[in-house]
Amino acid sequence: MKSLRSHVGGEWVEGRGKGAELVNPTTEAVVATASTEGVDFRAALAFARDVGGPALRAATFAERGAMIRAASRAIHGARDELIALAIDNGGCTRSDGKFDVDGASGTLGAYADLASELGDARFLVDGEAINFGRSSRLAGRHVLLPLEGVAAHVNAFNFPAWGLGEKLAVAILAGVPVISKPATSTALVAHRIAELFVEQAIFPRGAFSFVGGAPGDLLEHLVAQDVLAFTGSGAVGAQLRALPNVVASSVRVNVEADSLNAAILGGETSDETYDLFLKDVAKEVTQKTGQKCTATRRVFVPRARLEAVREALVERFADVKVGDPARDDVTMGPVATRRQQRDVLDGIAKLVAAGAKVVVGGKAPDAPLGVEPGRGFFVAPTLLEVSSAADAGPVHEHEVFGPVTTLIPYDGTPELIAAVRRGGGGLVSSVYGDDKEFLRTVVFGIATAHGRLVIGTEKNAGAAMSPGLVLPQLVHGGPGRAGGGEELGGARGLRLYLQRTALQGYGPLLQSLVESGKQV
Ligand code: NAP
Repeated sequence: MKSLRSHVGGEWVEGRGKGAELVNPTTEAVVATASTEGVDFRAALAFARDVGGPALRAATFAERGAMIRAASRAIHGARDELIALAIDNGGCTRSDGKFDVDGASGTLGAYADLASELGDARFLVDGEAINFGRSSRLAGRHVLLPLEGVAAHVNAFNFPAWGLGEKLAVAILAGVPVISKPATSTALVAHRIAELFVEQAIFPRGAFSFVGGAPGDLLEHLVAQDVLAFTGSGAVGAQLRALPNVVASSVRVNVEADSLNAAILGGETSDETYDLFLKDVAKEVTQKTGQKCTATRRVFVPRARLEAVREALVERFADVKVGDPARDDVTMGPVATRRQQRDVLDGIAKLVAAGAKVVVGGKAPDAPLGVEPGRGFFVAPTLLEVSSAADAGPVHEHEVFGPVTTLIPYDGTPELIAAVRRGGGGLVSSVYGDDKEFLRTVVFGIATAHGRLVIGTEKNAGAAMSPGLVLPQLVHGGPGRAGGGEELGGARGLRLYLQRTALQGYGPLLQSLVESGKQV
């Protein structure tokens, strides 16, 4: 039985005691244990700050980029092994596993490319000189320098590889050492990635640390200059934001949390646009068994198109083959844990109690393919429906984190916009239509409630990427319920780990001070 370790203080450390059990959600067999009991997190953070930080800050952006490139290659080189672990410990199909693993290597690769553009500088210069007066005798500049602390990365269970990779890429490029903590229940993939990084000596000592299990008191030792980047439930995010040391030292916190993402169909659309809408909704509900922060939870359709959309989605959901994700003919596996299965079924019951009706699914499937009867944490692809956007109740408030979505008819654009906004702030919603005025009204009507909007039209239907694909070049995050955070977005993402300082003084002197930085 594999026992996960933590890599802290430059070495692998085994936690004491029995630890938590990591389970294969298809067979319910225990695949590993994880304990961090007895790990000295205060010392781990100090080591990262004192040893890893200076090493990274001494490196240029290009040199940090070489580390990030090597990390990307290490993950890509172990792709098949990592996908196998994702099947075993995450209930992922091969395609789901690839999505996670390739998401990690791809995002790291994109940040390695950005590092090449930033070149030999070690810090950024923000904007041009500002002269106070007619000459440059009194001037101002802004510089962005790496914080001299550590970046604590806490990730959700659904993307053990991608979550680790995307946060790591940005912090390392900024010049800040990382301590990465995956969710315990699916940590096998992240643990293997950490082993690869250590075996291949990709990062300088102290620049990358890893927590293989419970967080213990890790976050209670964060101080000023440290950063906490959290992905997970809104409830835990709120709790961490309020930690007394985090509040007292103004530790920077970025939260990526829940989201009631919408897919919106316009009144009249071309066949291409309509097909794209159906394809995206089906994918966003069933990929990774709906356990994506970007999954579509609410499907808004004009009332006149409700019946057609319902029929088309029922057909698509019927094509989904639920079962053992190790089998090639299976297209959707179980959810990741027993707790997750219970939460999803409870969530469906909550929406139904408030008036939603079950169109298909709504329970565990009768006989998942290749699975011993009664085993595994399965939930059937589920389509719910409510009678109107205004009466949808908890559909606008409660995220059911599984293969579940709700069909919602709308009667006009103002009602549609108000209803989408009732989600309280989301990561990504998608709008499908070919009428420019409709698109303009909806996009600007809901933009401030979102971090990203995907617009599907007949012009790009053939080439469109599904909304759930988080691109390193675009920001990821969202206001309100989604956590109020922002990650990625190319160089924008670096800001979380950099201190912007205004320099005020004699213009030519300031110019010479900032000359070795990279102007952005
Ligand atoms: P979770 O229960 O909030 O856990 C997230 C992480 O926080 C895990 O690593 C967990 O560690 C850790 N954690 C829990 N309590 C903690 C505490 N008191 N102190 C420090 N760390 C703590 O969320 P989850 O069930 O893994 O993920 C599902 C949720 O994540 C969904 O709501 C989903 O929408 C959201 N999500 C958001 C995004 C996004 O980008 N916005 C992406 C993915 C998922 P342990 O596992 O060791 O308990």
